[in-house]
Amino acid sequence: MAESVDLPIRLAILPFRNKVLLPGAIIRIRCTSPSSVKLVEQELWQREEKGLIGILPVRDSAEAASTPSPGVQTSKNQEETSDSHKLNGKNQPEVIHWHNRGVAARALHLSRGVEKPSGRVTYIVVLEGLCRFSVQELTTRGTYYTARIIPLDMTKSDMDQVEQDPEFVMLSRQFKAMAMELISVLEQKQKTGGRTKVLLETVPVHKLADIFVASFEISFEEQLSMLDSVDLKVRLLKATELVDRHLQSIRVAEKITQKVEGQLSKSQKEFLLRQQMRAIKEELGDNDDEDDDVATLERKMKAAGMPPNIWKHAQRELRRLKKMQPQQPGYNSSHVYLDLLADLPWQKASEEHELDLKAAKDHLDSDHYGLVKIKHRIIEYLAVRKLKPDARGPVLCFVGPPGVGKTSLASSIATALGRKFVRISLGGVKDEADIRGHRRTYIGSMPGRLIDGLKRVGVCNPVMLLDEIDKTGSDVRGDPASALLEVLDPEQNKTFNDHYLNVPYDLSKVIFVATANRVQPVPPPLLDRMEVIELPGYTPEEKLNIAMRHLIPRVLDQHGLNFDFLQIPEAMVKLVIQRYTREAGVRNLERNLAAIARAAAVRVAEREHAIPLSKDVQQIASPLLESRLADGADVEMEIIPMGVNNHDISQALRITSPLVVDEAMLEKVLGPPRYDDRETADRIATPGISVGLVWTAFGGEVQFVEATAMVGKGDLHLTGQLGDVIKESAQIAMTWVRARATQLKLATAEETNLLEGRDIHIHFPAGAIPKDGPSAGVTLVTALVSLFSQRKVRTDTAMTGEMTLRGSVLPVGGIKDKVYFQLIFMWFILLLVTSEIKQ
Ligand code: ADP
Repeated sequence: MAESVDLPIRLAILPFRNKVLLPGAIIRIRCTSPSSVKLVEQELWQREEKGLIGILPVRDSAEAASTPSPGVQTSKNQEETSDSHKLNGKNQPEVIHWHNRGVAARALHLSRGVEKPSGRVTYIVVLEGLCRFSVQELTTRGTYYTARIIPLDMTKSDMDQVEQDPEFVMLSRQFKAMAMELISVLEQKQKTGGRTKVLLETVPVHKLADIFVASFEISFEEQLSMLDSVDLKVRLLKATELVDRHLQSIRVAEKITQKVEGQLSKSQKEFLLRQQMRAIKEELGDNDDEDDDVATLERKMKAAGMPPNIWKHAQRELRRLKKMQPQQPGYNSSHVYLDLLADLPWQKASEEHELDLKAAKDHLDSDHYGLVKIKHRIIEYLAVRKLKPDARGPVLCFVGPPGVGKTSLASSIATALGRKFVRISLGGVKDEADIRGHRRTYIGSMPGRLIDGLKRVGVCNPVMLLDEIDKTGSDVRGDPASALLEVLDPEQNKTFNDHYLNVPYDLSKVIFVATANRVQPVPPPLLDRMEVIELPGYTPEEKLNIAMRHLIPRVLDQHGLNFDFLQIPEAMVKLVIQRYTREAGVRNLERNLAAIARAAAVRVAEREHAIPLSKDVQQIASPLLESRLADGADVEMEIIPMGVNNHDISQALRITSPLVVDEAMLEKVLGPPRYDDRETADRIATPGISVGLVWTAFGGEVQFVEATAMVGKGDLHLTGQLGDVIKESAQIAMTWVRARATQLKLATAEETNLLEGRDIHIHFPAGAIPKDGPSAGVTLVTALVSLFSQRKVRTDTAMTGEMTLRGSVLPVGGIKDKVYFQLIFMWFILLLVTSEIKQ
């Protein structure tokens, strides 16, 4: 670039419309017009060494623009050439707007192409601007122009002279500084290394000025004035000004971008992105956007069959939703709310078929063993409903320990009525909002459990089980029981108001059934609305029957087994009941049976693999079968779809003898017995210990009472987390025993004070469990008498009963609850003391 160029006095001229090529700049042009093609062919293409041509700017005028220009073609990154300016055209008006200065250019690269349909030849030329010239005379050579020119480059001596000029020195310094700043800014923006800076040191400053300006997007006028700046000082001044302007514009642009970016909030960004996404989806023909979503919602709402007033409310909400942008804060919650409105069963109900009481009874019998009275009561309940379907019968409430069949009875009612069944767990519900929902103004608000249950079940007339109604509590967050009162009140539940739903919902078609472990914690007003049906728990015999008839077949079925594979003899079930469970219901029993079934399933599966396939089967075995066999996978499953006689196969795989559960297997699967009769004998090895029966929410329990004496001042110590009532019972027992010390032969006639010189300590083991209630009276007396008389209590006897100070034992209740075969004692003799203890 720095070399000086020897220009010929005549140059072929390529007109350059509305553009200027400056020295030092490199451009790529596409020549398509016949004249420019000719020029390239004759002046550049056919020459051995690539020649020089002159680029002369041509001003576009109205006339020039209206002149047909067949060869003009534009492409985005290519400059265009024009030959629309006829110098001496006969019929054309003379429209010459040639600039009188141009730039000589050298072709750096040439390539030739042929346009497809027309077969026209075109050229792509890469040109480098070399130096300015002025035009003396313009003539044509064939179809293109040539010009006589005078180069405007300075000679070496002229240059030396200018470089001495202090003004020039100052200007060039100023320009370089500005150029340096621009380069730094650009490099910072593009994060590139300092390659451009090398230019500043190697290229003469006047050429640099051209190179810089050539890279800016400036107006044609400014380009022309740069081309006309032959004087170096003028050129530098102009270039400095342009570089400065460019720098300013970059800075301003940057500031604006920063500002706009800062202002663009997250939601706006999201909005922009969503718009883009929508555009992309449209482009792809993928139309499931929000509009569709809202339309689907609307359709669903229309189909929901809402009552007119609720439909109005829903429509108002829908209109609001439609006005919102999906990224707006309320959009989602509004959408979820409307979804719930649309999903709720406003009218949809399971069709109630004609109730067949006989079938209902059969169904109850086939599902549940025993429970005769309870089943009878259920049939009565169903009979009333049959006669008067809209009768406001009482809400049945099954009360009893876990696993006694409360839930399954409720679900049987649903089956008998041909209705859907939904269970709502109320255990641990302390917040009224759990029943009634949270208002929608709260973040994370949701409907209450009832409305949620109805949405799940999808019909407005299910049998709804309010499970563990006794486990609700009240605290600062309100009282769930009062909300339940409204639910169970036939007068009020027609317009049940869920805070989230905010519109009344008719619960009157729902049949409610409740369960509870105990009656006491249920608030009286709530209890008043229900009819309590007690399921006290099962005796060991009942459990055995339930296991044999219901649990075992079900457990086997659940594990893919049947009686051909596994047999659990009655004796073994008895052992499981005695040794591994201690409960009023049958849930643990079922769990233990399931554990046995699982273990058996493993054994059966293992045995299956050991059985060789019969001859027939081997003959039809396919490679797939073989590979399956090799993998140890389930063979039978694989063969059947392949059309093989599956009778043969099941014969082949049949277990010849079923697996019979024995005691050894029980121990292996369930571990050593958890409860056995030795326990009591061991614990009652010394005088002063007696066994009581207590009642808990989970069924009957055995409670030991230990009493011991030591040297002291006649105090009574009580331990084992005892409540006030049980402590008083201990005092009463102590007083009664002391009062009758002589009659009971606990003391001699002279020495009547049993506490003389000693303290008594009574402890109830399992000290971490709180205990209370009056029924330990007789047990305490027995423990104390045993202690003072130094005689051991029978190991096979347990007792219960409240005793008065006078020694009367009050009638006892809940014996069936308290006594279970599995409660340790093989031969349980219940001490039912209903009259005064004989002295
Ligand atoms: P709860 O609701 O009282 O805690 P479930 O109804 O869940 O108890 O009963 C536990 C399991 O015991 C269920 O599988 C149930 O079928 C079974 N079950 C309870 N009582 C009987 C019974 N009398 N006859 C047959 N199966 C019973």
